Amino acid sequence: MKTERLARLRERMAALQLPAMLISHPLNRYYLSGFSGSAGTLFVTADRAVLLTDSRYTERAAGEAPGFEIVKLERDVATALPDLLAQAGVDWVGFESAHVTCAEYKVWAEKVREATLVPTQGVVEGIRAVKEAEELALIRQAVAIADAAYAYLKRTIRPGMTEKQVAWDLEVWMRTHGADGIAFDLIVASGPNGAMPHALASDREIRAGEPIVVDMGARVHGYHSDLTRTLYLGNGDGTFRQVYDTVLRAQQAAEARLAPGALGPDVDATARTIIAEAGYGENFGHGLGHGVGLAVHELPGLNQRTQDTLAPGHVVTVEPGIYLTGWGGVRIEDMALITESGAEILTQADKDPFVRV
Ligand code: ZN
Ligand code: ZN
Repeated sequence: MKTERLARLRERMAALQLPAMLISHPLNRYYLSGFSGSAGTLFVTADRAVLLTDSRYTERAAGEAPGFEIVKLERDVATALPDLLAQAGVDWVGFESAHVTCAEYKVWAEKVREATLVPTQGVVEGIRAVKEAEELALIRQAVAIADAAYAYLKRTIRPGMTEKQVAWDLEVWMRTHGADGIAFDLIVASGPNGAMPHALASDREIRAGEPIVVDMGARVHGYHSDLTRTLYLGNGDGTFRQVYDTVLRAQQAAEARLAPGALGPDVDATARTIIAEAGYGENFGHGLGHGVGLAVHELPGLNQRTQDTLAPGHVVTVEPGIYLTGWGGVRIEDMALITESGAEILTQADKDPFVRV
């Protein structure tokens, strides 16, 4: 399986005319090699795949990354680089510019005087965006756990519970039903707190008659789910019904656009237009969605700043929202898999926001 990933990297390197590449981002390193240690760098050429790590990890690396030559670092990557490049006969090496600090780059550049360090961005991330069957199976598990946890929440949520209690209940439920952990600090934002898209859970007691935004996810073998539902204890007043209906329509329209070849900005605009036409254009400040996998936020992006194009195997969220200061927020988030002919909505959690109390 990892051999295939390496082959995809080498194709990308050839297209970028890079004879060698250094991979230092932990998730990219893990994705390509299987090595789960916290320190290590990959050096990949057309015919070599080397994992450089220190003495703490060489044994684990040999077990986890059978496709790689393990090189024990006596000092650091910079010191080992000149020899590696000379052995490989390359004088042009790509590195992950978004994940190398200025200080590291300076040291590398000082040591590697004979070769050129070429900044790259998103090379492995682009490969990671297209999920393999094994990865999809784990994502489906993470989605199912979050869906079931949400169903549990809908049965048990009551006025007077604090946001933190709700978040903790969800966390415990997911961890005792197959999750290795939570995907991120769970968001439970009731009433006015919901007006902040990234509010965490506070000590505020939830009440009937106000929106409650719950944004949650599970992690299974490194893969994540990301689910948002907005609840309302009671029947819902006019504002809530209007805002909720607008967000739901925006989400449905955007989900209908998901297909190979669709552009991130266009899918985003589909939802944004509906929200703007309802008079809430100023109240939807974030992008529509993002890829999910080994990272909770990864490629591709569904927003106005990206140039990403959807392709089969991409897994993305669709999460429009409306946020009204002093009142609260409504966000509804699904995860979807882009297929050969369109998209499969992975999330099954129900979208009836009302809980009778
Ligand atoms: Zn989310
Ligand atoms: Zn999300």
